[in-house]
Amino acid sequence: MASTSASTVRQVKLERESELRIEVGNDSPLRLRLLNGTAEIFGTELPPQIWLSFPPRLKFAVFTWYGATIEMDGSTETDYTADETPMISYVNVNAILDGRRNRAKASSSSDASNSSLQAPRVIVVGPTDSGKSTLSRMLLSWAAKQGWKPTFVDLDIGQGSITIPGCIAATPIEMPIDPVEGIPLEMPLVYFYGHTTPSNNVELYKVLVKELSQMLERQFAGNAEARAAGMVINTMGWIEGVGYELLLHAIDTFDANIILVLGQIFSKIPFQEKLCSMLRDVLRKKPNVDVVKLQRSGGVVSRNAKFRQKARSSRIREYFYGLANDLSPHSNIANFSDLSVYRIGGGPQAPRSALPIGAEPAADPTRLVPVNINQDLLHLVLAVSFAKEPDQIISSNVAGFIYITDIDVQRKKITYLAPSAGELPSKYLILGTLTWLET
Ligand code: ATP
Repeated sequence: MASTSASTVRQVKLERESELRIEVGNDSPLRLRLLNGTAEIFGTELPPQIWLSFPPRLKFAVFTWYGATIEMDGSTETDYTADETPMISYVNVNAILDGRRNRAKASSSSDASNSSLQAPRVIVVGPTDSGKSTLSRMLLSWAAKQGWKPTFVDLDIGQGSITIPGCIAATPIEMPIDPVEGIPLEMPLVYFYGHTTPSNNVELYKVLVKELSQMLERQFAGNAEARAAGMVINTMGWIEGVGYELLLHAIDTFDANIILVLGQIFSKIPFQEKLCSMLRDVLRKKPNVDVVKLQRSGGVVSRNAKFRQKARSSRIREYFYGLANDLSPHSNIANFSDLSVYRIGGGPQAPRSALPIGAEPAADPTRLVPVNINQDLLHLVLAVSFAKEPDQIISSNVAGFIYITDIDVQRKKITYLAPSAGELPSKYLILGTLTWLET
């Protein structure tokens, strides 16, 4: 708990259209409340008078459209007010999306395929630390406040706003996103890629993006409300070379019709200009796709590799233990023979002698490779597949994750941490390179 001594309590008065940017201190949470006026955190309105507690190191902004007074209790790494923000342009984008949703809804009863074209499928692109996740979040929360249930698609395997890193996932957003708890984890649709960078297996990444999009298309076919609300797709910060190729792949696969391109203010190379014109060029043949350039907020905080690594680790911790240590994961023991572990791609290649004359042995990036359980699995995070047969593993989404804490080769026993006690929903486990050291 933050200290409640009077000396740390202070009030900040915010003028209209300004924001208070905060980085919570490293050691203790910060308490904050809205004393008067109205204010929001990344699109979600603050309840009046109620103290909210923000965990250490969280970076966020309290924005007000009409003026507000905020009270804070606890220490911050930094806090300052800013009256120059790109919020007006962001909320204007939301107004356009709202119009498209209304049109999609109106036509959904008469012509389903036409309404899919009109429903906004927004993809947010830009370099690392340009505020992509934050903009996605605002657009989702504003839409939910207006009564829509847009689908959030997170393709960023590096951080993961919906579930742990190494996954691509989607979930409907039915309520403005809680500023502390983040995206609700009720029933996300999750595919496990298993690595935190796409270069480990680009083909697999594409296959999973395709699987996710097909699954969403099937859900939209039976749910006009979700279809009309459309999607907001958050992407990785990798926008050059293969990263760019993956962006085009995602735009195509999800039939995105609005591309929001965020910039990077301190970059010498005008990434945003370059990316925008490249996208416009490529998409010339698709007249229904709009490419919109948006300003990056000066409040977006750059995070170095170490910080990102730490954030990944706390995301995994949060999966098992909860944000406020409010979950009780269970340590389970299984026999080696109870579980079937697979890796996707790479692995031992077929011997030349087994191939037709002239063919070169190639490591199929989407080949399913059985893995022997041994010490190498220690400290890995594995996904539990919903597959009923091994050949369904790549196309199946996952039920959740386990963390390997001990391997006893002699007794052929494996100890793992799971969100709950009891049998796993399936014996098929997927392994990647995702590790975690419980601290
Ligand atoms: P990535 O490179 O991981 O894809 P990103 O482009 O999605 O990053 P965000 O995660 O949206 O960037 O923002 C980076 C950090 O800056 C986050 O911690 C976010 O909470 C913080 N942030 C964004 N906007 C503001 C703001 N206006 N004031 C204070 N902090 C902010």
